[in-house]
Amino acid sequence: MKKPFVTSNQLQTITAQYPTPFHLYDEKGIRETARRLKAAFAWNPGYREYFAVKATPTPGILKLLREEGCGTDCSSLTELMLSDKCGFRGQDIMFSSNETPACEYELAAKLGAVINLDDFTHIDFLKETLGYIPETISCRFNPGGVFQLGESKEGFQVMDTPGDSKYGFTREQLFEGFKKLKAMGAKRFGIHAFLASNTLSNEYYPALAGILFHLAADLQRETGCHVCFINLSGGVGIPSRPDQEPNDIAAIGEGVRRQYEQILVPAGMGDVAIYTELGRYMLGPNGCLVTKAVHFKHIYKEYVGVDACAANLMRPAIYGAYHHITVSGKEDRPCDHVYDVVGSLCENNDKFAVDRELPEIEIGDLLVIHDTGAHGFSMGYNYNGKLRSAELLLREDGSVKLIRRAETPEDYFATMVFE
Ligand SMILES: *Cc1c(COP(=O)(O)O)cnc(C)c1O
Repeated sequence: MKKPFVTSNQLQTITAQYPTPFHLYDEKGIRETARRLKAAFAWNPGYREYFAVKATPTPGILKLLREEGCGTDCSSLTELMLSDKCGFRGQDIMFSSNETPACEYELAAKLGAVINLDDFTHIDFLKETLGYIPETISCRFNPGGVFQLGESKEGFQVMDTPGDSKYGFTREQLFEGFKKLKAMGAKRFGIHAFLASNTLSNEYYPALAGILFHLAADLQRETGCHVCFINLSGGVGIPSRPDQEPNDIAAIGEGVRRQYEQILVPAGMGDVAIYTELGRYMLGPNGCLVTKAVHFKHIYKEYVGVDACAANLMRPAIYGAYHHITVSGKEDRPCDHVYDVVGSLCENNDKFAVDRELPEIEIGDLLVIHDTGAHGFSMGYNYNGKLRSAELLLREDGSVKLIRRAETPEDYFATMVFE
């Protein structure tokens, strides 16, 4: 059974002050997750998590993560600016972008961020843009083909197709690239790869680590470049359905340690730092979207209309993603009604749930849409003139803090030209 991190009494108090819909985040859960992750990799002295800003680009969240020792992973100009505004400095920032404009490399270099190149041609582009190659540099690897893990009767536990993805260098380009970068003045090298997203398997990171550790040993031996860090990127997932088992981050850290001992240590590379760039694992379960039931509709199906819509959370609409829903205060009641839970966009895919078994809902009930802490608010948009909601932080002491106000019509009109 999935329980919300906020009680119905707390929600009554919060909604008396802040109108629905809003995204709510759990400070306690965020800090605990960051600490569990850090403990899982404590065997590696250089270990660091660079939180993927795109998942939750909100100062109130980034500052919490900074207090927990995390850096940030940015992929755009404004994410770099946001990291800077939140107090991340120099190599606290990782810059992993693709099809990168020159101005973004300029800002990344000015801030002293670690630049992670997505493509071989960006070596010359970076040199032309900056006039030099930074001493610390990273390159993103794409092994091509298909990546799969854990075959069973139900299929593969993890399955993705790097060969179809636009990111990263080929293996050959990586060897050429490292030699070229070294000749241009680079001294400290990193490698990075992202092979599968939202994985629910303790084997994903260790398998990825195995691939990258062998690659790093080959690269260091053949090019003489000093590999200083290996970035396992994001992709550790969360259980969205009540019957799914969560990942065991301690087991994941231990699996990566075993690969490190087997591959890097014998290669004389026991000084390599491990980095991660987790977004979903860090924040997903530690946020929810709170919305109110506002209408019923009885036609060929039973609909509950709510005051949030896909513009507040687009994952169900675009990926058919499952987000668990509980009705606040009715968590223990039997789920003996079947509803489509829908928003108000003029788009028939604006459904948070289809044929979902829920307790009987009444107008005014608060629905908690779970696991929206990452790639939730941040993917929001203004279609149909919908305004972005507020974001609130439930603090460890039970109080609530506004960490982003809701948009107003003035915000919506601010960029329009009427003349
Ligand atoms: C999106 C992204 C991440 C975070 O992915 P999650 O699935 O949220 O863990 C990390 N690194 C890069 C480069 C990304 O693009």
